[in-house]
Amino acid sequence: MFDASERRGAAIEPREIKQESNALLRITWGDGQVCEYSAPQLRRACPCAQCVNEWTGQRVLKADAVSEDLAINDLQIVGRYALNFRWSDGHETGIYSFRYLRGLCDRNQEAPVG
Ligand SMILES: [Zn+2]
Repeated sequence: MFDASERRGAAIEPREIKQESNALLRITWGDGQVCEYSAPQLRRACPCAQCVNEWTGQRVLKADAVSEDLAINDLQIVGRYALNFRWSDGHETGIYSFRYLRGLCDRNQEAPVG
C-alpha cells in the first residue's frame, strides 16, 4: 500500500472545490481524482488541537459527539494550502490541509490489498 502522506504535486492541488450542499463537499484534484466528503465525516476528522491531543496525536473528539445532521455553514481557503470550515455546531478551528483532505479520501477508497 502506498503512503498517502507521500503524495505531492497535482494529487494534492484541488482543481475544483465545490460545496454541493450544506452537508456535502466535492473536491476534484489535479490528477483527476474526485472525492466527496460528508459534513459529519469531515467534522469527525477535524485536526485541530481541541479535537486531537497535540502531544499524543490521539483523537479526543468522540465520533458519536458529531451529529449526522451536521452541516457546513461556511468554508474558506486558507492561504493556498488548506480549507477552514465553519460547522453548524459552532466549531471552526480546524485547518484541513489539501494533503490531509486527499489522504482522508484515499483512506476511504476500496484499495486492492498488496
Ligand atoms: Zn476541531
